[in-house]
Amino acid sequence: MKVKERHPLYQGLANIVGAGHVTDDDFACWATIGGIGIEVPPESQLVGPPDIVVRPQSTEQVSRVMKLAQRTSTPVTVAGAKSGIGGGHMPSEGGILLDMLDMDKVLDIDEDSMVVWTQAGCTWSKMLTELERKGLTTGFLGPCGNLSAAVGGGIALNSFGVNTPKYGHTGECVASLEVVLPTGEVIRTGTRSNQNANFTYRYLQGPDMAGLFIGGSGVFGVVTEAAFRIYDIPKYIEFTGFAFKSIEAALEAMYRMQRRRYVIDGMMLVGETVKMMVPQADPETIALLAVAFDDNDERIVKIQKEVCDEIALQCGGQDCGPEIAQLVVSNKWGLATTMSMSYGNAMECVVPTSTMNALRGRVKACLEHAAAHAPDLARVPHTDMPSNQCFALVSQQAMVLVGYLGNFTPWDKKLRQKCYQIDRDFQYWRIKELGDCVYWIGHRGTEAVVASWHPAYHEFLKKLKRTVDPNLILNRGILGLT
Ligand SMILES: Cc1cc2nc3c(=O)[nH]c(=O)nc-3n(C[C@H](O)[C@H](O)[C@H](O)COP(=O)(O)OP(=O)(O)OC[C@H]3O[C@@H](n4cnc5c(N)ncnc54)[C@H](O)[C@@H]3O)c2cc1C
Repeated sequence: MKVKERHPLYQGLANIVGAGHVTDDDFACWATIGGIGIEVPPESQLVGPPDIVVRPQSTEQVSRVMKLAQRTSTPVTVAGAKSGIGGGHMPSEGGILLDMLDMDKVLDIDEDSMVVWTQAGCTWSKMLTELERKGLTTGFLGPCGNLSAAVGGGIALNSFGVNTPKYGHTGECVASLEVVLPTGEVIRTGTRSNQNANFTYRYLQGPDMAGLFIGGSGVFGVVTEAAFRIYDIPKYIEFTGFAFKSIEAALEAMYRMQRRRYVIDGMMLVGETVKMMVPQADPETIALLAVAFDDNDERIVKIQKEVCDEIALQCGGQDCGPEIAQLVVSNKWGLATTMSMSYGNAMECVVPTSTMNALRGRVKACLEHAAAHAPDLARVPHTDMPSNQCFALVSQQAMVLVGYLGNFTPWDKKLRQKCYQIDRDFQYWRIKELGDCVYWIGHRGTEAVVASWHPAYHEFLKKLKRTVDPNLILNRGILGLT
């Protein structure tokens, strides 16, 4: 049997991270590019396995790996927990996979600046558990895969998720970042760019450079450490749930509640999902709005709930009681993902909007489009039920996720291909006709976001990329910058 030759950088990388943290074994390389299965079309030539995988243990090692890669013009792809739906952790041209998961320490819980410093490979779950021991929280509790997703991935994708309505996306929670630039230099953002600062804050000291790396899909640098703002864990939580006979009425209620900024988290279910979740609801029910409020003062929570109950009633809502709301909100991500993914796979679309009002019309438009373009796919398996589902987070930066299910199995390549085509068309239709935006950008989403950009904006990003990454080695193929 012919023995595979070592990768030319194997020894150099082993000298940096130690032989136990580098491998070029085929099995290990292929194993890193697993995902949830919807990142890239089947038979796609867009991605493939890395040639070599490295697991750095420190910022200094990341810096040395990047310097070696620059010197040798070797492509590098950064990966966290590899759950990003855009598939950005998958290399487009082999090279080095920089797997950050060994850098998983919670470094400091700083109650003076009220931030937690953590390494980028730390999972949300680990960070939150350590904070909980001190009665603290980041407020925003990470994206759907929060138990296993790494905070670095959340920053690179600017993930949204649990408690986004009150605390925003990952980006809003960031106080400072430590980043290794593609050339190997290490920088810290915000007050920490002051070499003498002993407190951590996002702004001051010039431009907000954390923003370059938040949502940047890892193309501008490797996040090695992050500081997130922290708060006391609220002691009290209340839920409220209302059924509506029209999507518009539910959206109006959502909009008015969010103007008050009381809601910590919430979800709006539409269509068949409601019937599955609340069989006892009035048969005319089209939308279910479930929201939660929390605070450390019980009186404040109760008042917030009372005010929002009044709003829902004024908008024609029917009170369904707190239990159903608790079920929906607490299982928000479980529900969403079960509905949208475990039936085969979903083509989801996220419609970020800057104002709640901009939601009007879009929810219906998306549902109608899905029903018209994927009628044969949009069925819950083994039933006659149309599976068009839509859920909206009650958020100032509202997100509408329209999932129309493509019930394809991984081995049915033809159907899978068809689902991708519909998904792609849907994305283009949304950015063109609805003026919507693209989320979960990796290899998936790049084409659509580039098509949507003003050319001058794209050129500006390209200039930035060339400045920080002269050999264009980091996260090639993403955002159309290489
Ligand atoms: C079932 C399911 C449901 C999901 N629901 C949600 C959801 O509700 N909301 C949501 O926002 N996301 C959701 N996601 C997507 C995903 O879980 C999150 O976006 C998560 O933040 C990705 O983290 P990760 O560690 O897996 O990143 P990865 O997938 O490993 O990486 C994602 C991107 O970030 C880059 N990257 C990773 N680490 C770094 C770093 N240290 N420095 C620079 N770049 C880096 C990678 O190159 C890649 O481009 C879901 C995923 C699944 C599987």
